[in-house]
Amino acid sequence: MKIGVFVCHCGTNISAVIDVQKVVNDLAKMPGVFAMDYKFMCSDPGQNMIISEIKQKKLDAVIVAACSPCLHELTFRNTLIRGGLNPYMLEIANIREQDSWVHTDRDKATEKAVRLAKMAVAKAKRNQPLFPQEVSVEKSCLVIGGGIAGIQAAIDISSAGYQTVIVEKEPSIGGKMAMFDKTFPTLDCSACILTPKMVQASQSKKVKIYTYSEVEEIGGYVGNFNARIRVKARSVNMEKCTGCGICWQKCPVKVNSEFEQNLGPRKAVYVPFAQAVPNVPVIDCVNCTYYRSKRQNPESKGLCRICEKFCPAGAIEFDQKDKIIEEKFGAVIVATGFSAFDHKVYGEYGAGRYKDVVTALQFERLLNSSGPTQGKILRPSDSKEARTIVFVQCVGSRDESKGVPYCSRVCCMYTAKQALLLKEHIPDANAYVFYIDIRAAGKNYEEFIERVQDEYGVLYLRGRVSKIYRTGDGALLVRGADTLSGTQVEISADMVVLATGLVSNPETVKLGQMIGIPYDKNRFFTESHPKLAPAETQTAGVFICGACQFPKDIPDSVAQAGAAASKVLGLFSQEHLMLEPVLACVNQKICNGCFHCRAVCPYNAIDEEILKDKSVVARVIESKCHGCGNCISACPVSAVDLKGYTNEQILEQLQSLR
Ligand SMILES: Cc1cc2nc3c(=O)[nH]c(=O)nc-3n(C[C@H](O)[C@H](O)[C@H](O)COP(=O)(O)OP(=O)(O)OC[C@H]3O[C@@H](n4cnc5c(N)ncnc54)[C@H](O)[C@@H]3O)c2cc1C
Repeated sequence: MKIGVFVCHCGTNISAVIDVQKVVNDLAKMPGVFAMDYKFMCSDPGQNMIISEIKQKKLDAVIVAACSPCLHELTFRNTLIRGGLNPYMLEIANIREQDSWVHTDRDKATEKAVRLAKMAVAKAKRNQPLFPQEVSVEKSCLVIGGGIAGIQAAIDISSAGYQTVIVEKEPSIGGKMAMFDKTFPTLDCSACILTPKMVQASQSKKVKIYTYSEVEEIGGYVGNFNARIRVKARSVNMEKCTGCGICWQKCPVKVNSEFEQNLGPRKAVYVPFAQAVPNVPVIDCVNCTYYRSKRQNPESKGLCRICEKFCPAGAIEFDQKDKIIEEKFGAVIVATGFSAFDHKVYGEYGAGRYKDVVTALQFERLLNSSGPTQGKILRPSDSKEARTIVFVQCVGSRDESKGVPYCSRVCCMYTAKQALLLKEHIPDANAYVFYIDIRAAGKNYEEFIERVQDEYGVLYLRGRVSKIYRTGDGALLVRGADTLSGTQVEISADMVVLATGLVSNPETVKLGQMIGIPYDKNRFFTESHPKLAPAETQTAGVFICGACQFPKDIPDSVAQAGAAASKVLGLFSQEHLMLEPVLACVNQKICNGCFHCRAVCPYNAIDEEILKDKSVVARVIESKCHGCGNCISACPVSAVDLKGYTNEQILEQLQSLR
C-alpha cells in the first residue's frame, strides 16, 4: 500500500513551533510512505500538488498533517475524489490545534507531530473505501412552536414553494409577541407587525397549522422523519365555526386568563386574544360546567350546554376526541421559545404574595389597549391608577444563587420600553429603574436607553433592591442601594415591575431527548457550532431558532428563523441526500443477542434479525445510525464495530506509538 503524507506549514501557525522538515524526513523513512511539505496545503496549489502526487505515485491513501479535521476534512476528501481516490482513504493528523497551538517546546512538539502522523499512517493502512448511502428527501418541514420564530421560518420555507406544518401547543399561534403592546427600540405596535405574519402563514396554501397540538413522537433521520402529532380536542368543529363569538359571550363561567397573565378573565369557551389564529375557540374541559358535571355523573346529559344552544353554526362538539396525525417530514425546526422566570423564589420581593408586584409580562398586558385594563395602568389590588412605579431588573438573571448565572439579554431593553410607555400613558408618573448594568448592544438600543432617561425623565438607580415591604396605606416600600451615590434608597411605590429573566421552556429536556438535540446546563438547546452553525444541531436535518436556543429579542429570533429556513431549503433543493458511511456494523457471527447495544443507542438504530439457525441477533438500521459509537462500547463480545474507525484501526494506531 502506498501512502502519501502531506505536511502543512499553515503559514507559520505550525512551522513556527514544529520542525516541518524533520516531520517529512521521519515519515519518509517509513516503508511505503512518501512525504512532502507545503506552506498552505488547503490552498489551490496545495490541493493540486496532492492530486498530482496521487496520480503520479499511484497512492492508495493520503495523510494530511495540518489543522483540525473539523475545518478541512471535507476540503481534502474532495481533493482525494479529484485525484481519483475514495474520499475515506484520507486521514488527518491534527498537528495544529493538538500540537503547535498548545506547545512551545520545538523539539517535543516536533516529536509529537511525527507520532501523530505515524498514527495516521497506521490507521490508513487498514482503511477501506466507504460509500455514502443515497436517501430520498421528503420535501415538507415540521416547525414545532408557533411564536414569531416558528412563524417566520414557516413563511420563508413556504414562500420557496415547500410544504410546512406548524405545531403549536396553545390554541393560537403568536407566542409571547402577541402579548406585547409595543416593541423596542422602534416602538412598533406589536400586533400590527405580528398579525400580518400570522395571517400570511394561515392563508398560505403551503402552510398547515395544527394549534392546540403537540408532537408526541419523532423517528427517522434527515430527509425522512416520521412525526406523531396529537391534535387535542377543542370541542369545537373548526370547519363549522365562524368565529362569531356568541359562545364565549354566552358562557357563564369566568376563570383567570393565561394570556392576560391572570390579570383578567376569560370564559370556559374562549379564544385567547382577539386576533387569534385560528379564530376558533376551545373549551377548557377543566372549568366548563358541562364537563365538570359529566365527570361527577357520567350517566347524566351534562349541565349548562349554553354555548351549544346558542351556536348558530352547530359547531360545539362535546364528544370530540383527540386526533392523532402521522406525517413524514424531510426536516424539523424547533422554535419552542422560552418561559418567564418564576419570581416566587425571591422572598425579599414578596414571593408572589403582593398583588401590586407584577411581572414584566403582566405589565405588558396592563400597557396593552386590548389588555385587561384597556391600557390603563391600574393596580391589580384596588384598580387605582399607579403613578409611581419601580422597575427591578435582573430578577432571575445574572443571579448564581437562583441558578440563573446568565444575562437574559432583553430585560434592560424591555424595561426601558415599559418605563417609556408608562410615561406616555401617564406623563407625570414617576418611573425608577434599579439596574446592575445596562446591556443595550443592539442597533439603536443605547440611544433608546438614553432617550428614556433624558427625554422621558426615567430615573435609573444602579444597585439591587434588597427588600419590598407592604405599608399600611397599601403602598409598597422599595428599599435598595444606589451604589453610584453610595446611599440606601427607599421609594414608596404604587406598583413594582419585576424584569423576570428568560428561562428555558420546561419541555426542552423531553423534546430534546425525543428529537436528539442536546441542551446546555441552563437547558437551552445547543447549536451545532456557536459561530459557524448557529441554527444547526447535532442531528442532521434538525434546526433551532428563536429563544429556545438562548434568550433573544425579536430581530435576532427572526434572523435565526431565516437562517434555519435557508438550511432547510438547502436540503430540499436536493433530490437525494448522501448519508455519511461512518456507521456501526454488527458481526452477526459473534453477536450473542444480548441487545445491550440497543439499550444505549440514542437513535433507535438497532433492530433484531432472526438468522437461519433461529438465533436472534442485532442489526444496524443504517439510515438511522449516526455513527456515535455508543453501541460499540456497550457490546460485551466486541461484535459491533464502526466503519472507518474499527477496533483494529484504533489498536493499530496505539501500537504505532510503541
Ligand atoms: C416582558 C417581555 C417583553 C419583551 N419585549 C420585547 C420587545 O419589545 N422587542 C423585542 O425584540 N423582544 C422583546 N421580548 C423578547 C421576545 O419575547 C422574544 O424575542 C420572542 O418572543 C422570541 O420568539 P420565539 O418564537 O422564539 O419564542 P416564543 O414567543 O416563546 O414562542 C414560542 C412558541 O412555541 C410554543 N411552544 C412551546 N413549546 C411547545 C411544544 N412543545 N409544542 C408546540 N409548541 C410549543 C409556545 O406556545 C409559543 O407559542 C420581550 C420579552 C419579554 C419577556
